[in-house]
Amino acid sequence: MHFRRSHVPRVAILLACTFTLPHAVLPAQAVPAGGSVPGSVRAQNLALNAVLGATTTALHAWIAGRPVRRALVWGAAGGALAGAGRQIVGSRGDFAGWSGRLVHEAGLGVARYGVADTLELPLHVGPLVARWTPARRRLPSVRVNLANVLLTAALASAPSARVDWGASAWSGGVVLRVSSEDLGAASGEEAWGGTLPGVIALTDDLYATATARQRRAVLAHETIHLLQFDAQHDWIGRPLEARLLRAGRIGRGLGRVVELGIAGPLAVGLATSGLPYERQPAEREAWWLTSGRAAPRPGGTTR
Ligand SMILES: [Zn+2]
Repeated sequence: MHFRRSHVPRVAILLACTFTLPHAVLPAQAVPAGGSVPGSVRAQNLALNAVLGATTTALHAWIAGRPVRRALVWGAAGGALAGAGRQIVGSRGDFAGWSGRLVHEAGLGVARYGVADTLELPLHVGPLVARWTPARRRLPSVRVNLANVLLTAALASAPSARVDWGASAWSGGVVLRVSSEDLGAASGEEAWGGTLPGVIALTDDLYATATARQRRAVLAHETIHLLQFDAQHDWIGRPLEARLLRAGRIGRGLGRVVELGIAGPLAVGLATSGLPYERQPAEREAWWLTSGRAAPRPGGTTR
């Protein structure tokens, strides 16, 4: 069968998105409106993230034969801190993207401290991840997140893709502007934006029709997804992938410059792929924290 070269980027995006995008697409008919976030929702969000942090950290402690109680305590504290970071991003202020990200990174590090000897603080910026161990008094190590690089490359290979530098600077991730057709081809639905691990895509349609306030709301929503992917990698995938890499000589060499970044987002993507959009936990969190609602209004009236 003759295969047109111009199809390659779209097929690459489609494959890349199969597991990760369906739960991170913002439907076109429902841009989040203002709406403040009720205090009860904030408290519930912190509690849920504390439970998530505690559970994942305790599981790793159990696997590694380390004390589970210590893992539960630090995991819960880190989880709550990560939740607070996402809430700051959801507040959508001019510096909310970065300040929320930094609090979130601290949360990721604090949770992992529950199964480690020393505190290590991560900083995820697009496809790069720096890790700093304050006690070691050395410069941070910087590695490339392999999955994030491949997904960013796949999305950037769309003919319409170009970088939105302003939005990238706000969110701390790579933000690409793509045509609605390219994102639609990848996700199978009409969308304003979508997020893959390490990269956000916003559609031309969004730039053409949404107000600046709405665009910021969409960017905040997608940035929350970026942070969720970071947490899935740091809390679920990386500890397992690091064990895998340490098992062989090539892996050890590779592990000095690369983090795989595959297992966490893939596991969560698979576990939640059967749920409809409005019931995806990642979507519910992003909606609650940017619009004060659990999901878009039926039919969407805020466009
Ligand atoms: Zn979403």
